[in-house]
Amino acid sequence: METILVSACLLGDNVKYNGKNNYDERIEKLKELFDIVPICPEVFGGLPTPRIPSEIKGENVVNEKGKDVTYEFNKGAHKVINIVNFCHVRKALLMDRSPSCGVNKIYNGKFNGTLIDGMGYTAKLLKAKGVQLYTLDSIDELIESKGK
Ligand code: SF4
Repeated sequence: METILVSACLLGDNVKYNGKNNYDERIEKLKELFDIVPICPEVFGGLPTPRIPSEIKGENVVNEKGKDVTYEFNKGAHKVINIVNFCHVRKALLMDRSPSCGVNKIYNGKFNGTLIDGMGYTAKLLKAKGVQLYTLDSIDELIESKGK
């Protein structure tokens, strides 16, 4: 079976900044079709759960208290890339709007709830590595891509 990465919060793991998850029942179909490797770049980077929310600001990532957490985000992203290399991963289903996993939208770095076009820290590296990125909005395309 093809191996894909999935944001752990979508699988129901309580790894979100607020200690909750983003479980979506459509994931159950994916489990029948793919070998799933859960990833949470922020946890991989050593950040605690729950944690202070972060947003991308220019080239850096800062949390709501103003602390620069770029090091942790970078560390987590590179751990994900190691998995991609080791497991020959070509596809990932990621949680949009996250400063790590966002594929199409992220928050604007001002902590005012405004979304802008952009990608999360890990998502950018995955894209550069040639991994095809999907979100819940395109999960049907991912299902249809099985074996392709
Ligand atoms: S870093 Fe990704 S997997 Fe972890 S909680 Fe945020 S969106 Fe979910």
